[in-house]
Amino acid sequence: METHYQSMHAAIVKHLPNADMELIDRAVDYARNKHRDQKRKDGSPYIIHPLAVAEIVVEMGLDTDAVLGALLHDCIEDTDASHEEIEKLFGASVAELVEGVTKLTRANFSSSEQEQMENLRKMFMAMSKDIRVVLIKIADRLHNMRTMQYQTPEKQISKCRETMDIYAPLAHRLGMQKIKWELEDIALRYLDPDDYNRITAYLNAHKEQDEAFMRTIQDKIKERLTAVGIHNTTYGRIKHVYSIYRKMQVQDKSIEELYDIYAFRVIVDTIPDCYNVLGHIHDLFNLVPGRFKDYISTPKPNMYQSLHTTVIGSQGIPFEVQIRTWDMHETAEYGIAAHWKYKQGTGAGSEKDFEWIRRLLESQQDSDAEEYVQSLKIDMFDDEVFVFTPKGRIVSLPAGSTPIDFAYAIHSGVGNAMIGAKVNNRIANIDTPLKNGDIVEVLTSKAAKGPSRDWLNICKSNQARTKIKQWFKKEKREENVAHGRAAFESEMRRVGLPLSITIDPEVSPQLLKKLSFDDWEDMYAAIGYGGLTAVKAVGRIRDDINKAVRAQANDKLMQSAPQRQEPDLRRDRHAINGVIVEDIDSCMIKFAKCCAPVPGDAIVGFITKGFGVSIHRCDCPNAAHRDDPIQAARWVRVRWANEEDQPFETTLELDCITRDGLLLDVASTLTTARVRMKELFGKDLPGGKSVFTVKFEVKNAEELETIRKKLLNIRDVVGSRRGQN
Ligand code: MN
Repeated sequence: METHYQSMHAAIVKHLPNADMELIDRAVDYARNKHRDQKRKDGSPYIIHPLAVAEIVVEMGLDTDAVLGALLHDCIEDTDASHEEIEKLFGASVAELVEGVTKLTRANFSSSEQEQMENLRKMFMAMSKDIRVVLIKIADRLHNMRTMQYQTPEKQISKCRETMDIYAPLAHRLGMQKIKWELEDIALRYLDPDDYNRITAYLNAHKEQDEAFMRTIQDKIKERLTAVGIHNTTYGRIKHVYSIYRKMQVQDKSIEELYDIYAFRVIVDTIPDCYNVLGHIHDLFNLVPGRFKDYISTPKPNMYQSLHTTVIGSQGIPFEVQIRTWDMHETAEYGIAAHWKYKQGTGAGSEKDFEWIRRLLESQQDSDAEEYVQSLKIDMFDDEVFVFTPKGRIVSLPAGSTPIDFAYAIHSGVGNAMIGAKVNNRIANIDTPLKNGDIVEVLTSKAAKGPSRDWLNICKSNQARTKIKQWFKKEKREENVAHGRAAFESEMRRVGLPLSITIDPEVSPQLLKKLSFDDWEDMYAAIGYGGLTAVKAVGRIRDDINKAVRAQANDKLMQSAPQRQEPDLRRDRHAINGVIVEDIDSCMIKFAKCCAPVPGDAIVGFITKGFGVSIHRCDCPNAAHRDDPIQAARWVRVRWANEEDQPFETTLELDCITRDGLLLDVASTLTTARVRMKELFGKDLPGGKSVFTVKFEVKNAEELETIRKKLLNIRDVVGSRRGQN
């Protein structure tokens, strides 16, 4: 008891130096007296528990009322203390807190689904009145988890399940990372002891090795930052056990095969320093593309802010680096509670910082209880995404899932026949990540060619991946046709024959007859199977083709070619992703990655095999040979529809003269221009030059031009060009 009291006392001196210690001591005495006949499961006096909970609450940074509430939190539930008595002795606000915690304690979250819903609702109601109630409850749960070894095995399992289902996600949504990690790790220890022990044993066995690795990286970062005069605190850590466990499950790997278990943190004084550090990290190590995330300009819903990037050290081991200021660090560790350190406010005041709480409370007013609680639950689980069919059925998918995952979740037939998708009634790319509450409609066609191989890389759910693979196994034909066609075409080119002849209606039937096939696809498939070689096939029709080509040349001399009619593109066509394709009303649209067109660019479409029409800029090198008779039939006229203003990703490469702070200038120019930046990194070239690659979203070519000019205005940025996405 004494040590627990001293420990709490020390925490108060450190975090709440102005607290009324006399009042707190009175609450300690009151609680000790009320609980005097009770013992904890391990036989120790009960008062140890409220003291420990109060200490956690102090460390969260909460105020004196919350500390008093924590000390008294079990009094109404477990002793003869009453609301009135507590109100008389410690004030109305403390009594309200204790009352609120008591209500939550009575809620049993491991009960039936329906009761659980009802209890969750109580939790959020309490939160809406005064969030400190929920924070005290989380502190209470944390201490109970820390002392879980004294409980019966049944109780351990049910409490740990409840912690995983309710408290850890709640701590996460409140931004309390540190507490979330501890809750998860303890819960895992009881829920899956084998795996928990295996992971911790492995980590212990590799402790020295890990620490040596982390020290090398840490020293390297520190050395550079100190050399350029950036004041920093840098350290490495191993990710927490439960997150390693999750990675093993998701990636289906053993811990030995798992690489990204290290995370480094660089904490600096100012936001400009953050971007500056980012530049130095990218200079020191090799960047893993696509992993840079700027949560500073776009904070997470739980207010988390940091720059994240993944790089590879000299040992070939990838690791994540998180860069943040001290303020951001506090918020990341303690979440909503961190705000008491700055504003000693009531619970209600801090709500407006938390957009999601506000939204939930608003939605509460105009929906019935069940629907409301459903939406709460949806918002609490962020490794899943819940979407709806047009008829209102809920489909749960892994976070990051796309319309492809959705289609295969409905039925493999739907996935295989998919040609596009609508999200919330608008045509969407089939690789668009779905958000909670999206209404998804799959557009299918009997003529669909089935899934594309790319889909395997796009989809997030194992279900979709398995079904797509099955399709390819069964329908190898598509693949064989593609392979066969490629072999055939390259052989035709090798011997100098025009490919266009195969689609010439006059000549084609005669050639097929000679080859003994009904159509070209069958012939390609046969080559793909290996039933016929491309050399043999071309050899068989070579003479006929040469004859036909000569005949056609003669015809051309005899008559002048008729003027080709320009088709009218002004007709009201159906726009797909902001693009109108001539003569095709519904097809998949992809924006070519090589030139990443944005509205306003002159564009042209290419009919791909199995992936609809891909849109290129007219000046794209890949579109340069579109008049070539070999390709001509597959190029189609397209134009931008005017009404769309959805953002497009584009990439600029900036030629620069290397100097410190340039990366920061680029980043802040984009931030000031309110541009959503997706990626930014620099590469040093010989002779004091460097190239910065920046990927961001724009609405159209006009906006892109404005941004390009702004970037060129930065000192030492000397040139720019459009890059590849
Ligand atoms: Mn308790």
